[in-house]
Amino acid sequence: MTGWRVCASPFLRFSTRERVFPMTSAVSLRDVSCVFRSAGKTVHAVAGVDLEVRSGEFFTLLGPSGSGKTTCLRMIGGFTLPTSGHIAIHGQDVSQHPPYERPVNTVFQDYALFPHMSVLDNVAYSLMVRGVERATREKKAQQLLETVQLPDVGQRKPLQLSGGQRQRVALARALISEPQVLLLDEPLGALDLKLREQMQSELKSLQRKLGITFIFVTHDQHEALSMSDRIGVFNQGRLEQVATPSELYTRPATRFVAEFVGAANVLQGDDARLYAPANALMIRPELIELQMGEATTRSGPARAHGTVHEVQFFGAFWRVQVQPEQGAALLVDLPVHGSAQVPDPGASARLYWSDAAMHVIEAQA
Ligand code: ADP
Ligand code: MG
Repeated sequence: MTGWRVCASPFLRFSTRERVFPMTSAVSLRDVSCVFRSAGKTVHAVAGVDLEVRSGEFFTLLGPSGSGKTTCLRMIGGFTLPTSGHIAIHGQDVSQHPPYERPVNTVFQDYALFPHMSVLDNVAYSLMVRGVERATREKKAQQLLETVQLPDVGQRKPLQLSGGQRQRVALARALISEPQVLLLDEPLGALDLKLREQMQSELKSLQRKLGITFIFVTHDQHEALSMSDRIGVFNQGRLEQVATPSELYTRPATRFVAEFVGAANVLQGDDARLYAPANALMIRPELIELQMGEATTRSGPARAHGTVHEVQFFGAFWRVQVQPEQGAALLVDLPVHGSAQVPDPGASARLYWSDAAMHVIEAQA
């Protein structure tokens, strides 16, 4: 069986069965659950998650607050042990290993830098703990500060840095131990929009350059779509879909994914059957064309006739809410630089879209 390795769990009390994990996976989760019991309440933070993260991949765990992303990441890092299930890193079952015995490192949301230490000492910290001599560890720390484009701040304290610089120091500190897998929990959450976008592209190119597997947690769909090779969408502790950004956007598996990733018209039951023989379907607002008055650039009948209710300006496009004569209201995005006229509320409009614009949602979740 080339490419696979059979691993026995090192902890007999945990499992005596042998498990098989693919060697091509950087991280494998098999039926992993985590249940918290606090104040007499039971929380299924993560429920039966199966996941394969490929080696060298930029993989994002995306989901709303409280959906189980951090718990999942902490279980991969070893900070929280799964209630049931198995986790392997590069084919080795590490389900019960402590964090320091796993070839992973974590960048925490608050960066967790030591305020009394210099930036250089912060970055070199894990080498110091391992007894690496000062000259060697400082040289390595300086190299990493250069990698994250902060060659001149080694002697400062973390508080003398901007938020974006602190974020980079936290990254350098996590990278110094040469982890095979880097875990990042909403690392850009504290930055303002402009800096966040800049760090998104820097992080992505750094990951490509280093070739390490990144598992990145965010609740921000734009961040997930723009950075990831693949995305796993969490909802209430479950993984709803794992797909590339474009698959996720064009072919969401569930209503939740359709609505969480991008704006969507999700139509169900009779509302859906007005347009297609389906129980649930999705149409993205930018795939609907709106026309007013007599003139039309379209041949054939409109899909719907309706009245414009609301018009909002979003910079790159106008979002128009139209109430068709029958069925649910529809969102339509009009390009700002297109030929389309921007309608006023109350105007009559005809709506057109292609068959290909209708995505049938099969799942009944
Ligand atoms: P996310 O990172 O997606 O916001 P979390 O993984 O932090 O979600 O939390 C998932 C669920 O588990 C939430 O309902 C949260 O309140 C609960 N939870 C997380 N950590 C603990 C804990 N240590 N004790 C009890 N409940 C927890
Ligand atoms: Mg979290």
